[in-house]
Amino acid sequence: MPDEFTSPDPRLRPQHLTAPAAQPAGPPEYPVDETNFPALADAFASMQSAAGLQGYRLVVLGDDFAGAGTDFDRKLIGIGARRLNRQPFEAIIGTIGHELGHAYRQKHPEAPLVGAPIAGLTPQRMEEIEADRIGICLAGAASSIEALRTGGVTLDPGLPVHFRIDAAEHFSPASCPVGGPSKYSGIKV
Ligand SMILES: [Zn+2]
Repeated sequence: MPDEFTSPDPRLRPQHLTAPAAQPAGPPEYPVDETNFPALADAFASMQSAAGLQGYRLVVLGDDFAGAGTDFDRKLIGIGARRLNRQPFEAIIGTIGHELGHAYRQKHPEAPLVGAPIAGLTPQRMEEIEADRIGICLAGAASSIEALRTGGVTLDPGLPVHFRIDAAEHFSPASCPVGGPSKYSGIKV
């Protein structure tokens, strides 16, 4: 088992680890499944089902990768090993919810904006806010805000973390297009 997994939370360390898929470029991809990361796999399955996005896979990106992202063509969500090492479980769940938010928008390009538009934001920045909002629908507000608080760097100076947290705190789950009776969902049913 690679010693790159150092989280104090056993849910964020592999219980067993199959060899990562060889990638021609980019970090190794460790599959998140019932064997390797059972708690994460359970959370992902629950949120994916609530979002109606079956078919996506979740992987952990090794080599101390710091980011998280979604590859629509491969239906793949990746989350960096450095995040697993440094962020609490709740924040990891929130980050996965955010990425599923991007996948939801990609699947439903014509669906109305989730929540109210924010004046002055470019469409790209609004898309990030919307992914945060869908993340709230799927993972709950506390998880999503924890993901923002502990997520580290602000890649886009036009969309600082405090702005995103403020937008998240003002979002009402009543506007959620997805969600359901999930223990990870912010919606109480
Ligand atoms: Zn995003």
